Amino acid sequence: MSQSKEIIISKSSIPIFAIVLLAMIFVAGLFVVGFDQGHIFSLVIGEEAFADLYIHELTHDMRHAAGFPCH
Ligand SMILES: [Zn+2]
Repeated sequence: MSQSKEIIISKSSIPIFAIVLLAMIFVAGLFVVGFDQGHIFSLVIGEEAFADLYIHELTHDMRHAAGFPCH
C-alpha cells in the first residue's frame, strides 16, 4: 500500500513597482505632513502660499503629535 502526499508551495512576490510606488507616496506624505511650509501651494498660487501656510495649518496638530518641529 502506497501513500501519496501532496506538497503545495505557493510563491507570491510583491511587484517591485508597487514597493516603489508606495515609497513615493510615503515620501510625499511625509513631506506634506512634516516639512511643507507653503512649498506645494506655491507651485499654484506663488509667493502668497508662503504667507498663508494652508497645508501647514491643516497638518499642524498632526505635525506636533508626530514630533516634527515647526515653531
Ligand atoms: Zn507648531
